[in-house]
Amino acid sequence: FPSRLPNVGTTVFTIMSALAAEHRAINLGQGFPDFPCDRKLLTSVNDAMLADRNQYPPMIGITELRNGISQKIKNLYGHYYDPESEITITAGGTQGILTTILACVSPGDEVVIIEPAYDSYRPSIELAGGKTIAVSLEVRRDAHGQVASYEIPWDALAKAINSKTRLLMINSPHNPTGMVWQKADLDRLAQLVKNTSTLILSDEVYEHMVYEGAAHHSVASHPELAARSFLISSFGKTYHVTGWKVGYVAAPPALTKEFRKVHQFNVFTVNTPMQYGLASYLADASHYLNLPAFYQAKRNFFRAGLEKTAFKLLPTPGTYFQCADYSALNIPQAKLNEADFCKWLTTEIGVAAIPVSAFYDRPTESGVIRFCFAKQEQTLATALQRLQSL
Ligand code: GLN
Repeated sequence: FPSRLPNVGTTVFTIMSALAAEHRAINLGQGFPDFPCDRKLLTSVNDAMLADRNQYPPMIGITELRNGISQKIKNLYGHYYDPESEITITAGGTQGILTTILACVSPGDEVVIIEPAYDSYRPSIELAGGKTIAVSLEVRRDAHGQVASYEIPWDALAKAINSKTRLLMINSPHNPTGMVWQKADLDRLAQLVKNTSTLILSDEVYEHMVYEGAAHHSVASHPELAARSFLISSFGKTYHVTGWKVGYVAAPPALTKEFRKVHQFNVFTVNTPMQYGLASYLADASHYLNLPAFYQAKRNFFRAGLEKTAFKLLPTPGTYFQCADYSALNIPQAKLNEADFCKWLTTEIGVAAIPVSAFYDRPTESGVIRFCFAKQEQTLATALQRLQSL
């Protein structure tokens, strides 16, 4: 029978995690922590289960969790989302993304994405019958031809947005580059979409991983953008529980109404005990307020180790990903494309990474791979020893 997604294979994260497991490599590919979450969070979930909170929760998520999210967004970003009409609990960020797209993109509508882009974006648009218009981050290279930074492609964005653009998808802090949008960027974006009917999907799942004391600038902090945005975040990233698959979508009532029409027949709702566990834990802000320092220490440790190699490090102002250019390594494999280099690194050196080319529709080879540093120091140290042998 005809495939709905003829050009889609298995996601790179699944492939690289399987390859890492097969070769017993250290898995710095798929983004997830190798350390446990806070025991208190587990106790809260356990308590909810033992209190028989095991039946369907409300379709939109439990009140306690939506209230907590509303409060948190108000405190951090200054915008009040009504928990009843503007916040929906989802089965992770990825479901929030697909459901948002299915809820507002009709066949023939254009959706603008910025590549490198998380690999679910494009197939999700395709399932809705939308047309993906991809613009690429501008790649800046240094005098040696190695990638030095990525910049928002404002001119290309301005050209891409027109009366058919139903949705623009943005992501800050950005997976895979770690790029963080500044307040001026949000202002510029607001100017760009003013007088258009373009909605915004803002993927902010790494919101609590911004370093050097810098702030995360949410669309919620910008009233004009908040009025046309679906703000998506995830508990998995923030609380070290990626396997729980719980996240949320905050959007104005008219957008949320459409979102929920799809959500109710997609997952209907999200498991009850995890929602109660997260709701009681969320009240204590200290966990996410300490997260930047926690991850900055890991980032610095990993970077210091990589600096002893011929990998060229890209800046990492946010996320738990470190990108590195391998093209100056003094080994024949430095000439491989990113996918083959990552396979070789996994099978022969014992460290798995993700090719940045996987975040582009057409392999755009920049010689850059992504490592996840959400790991115990010992894991990072062992991986660094192997990388330093190159
Ligand atoms: N977001 C994670 C990453 O970029 C992967 C999530 C997944 O595998 N679905 O590594």
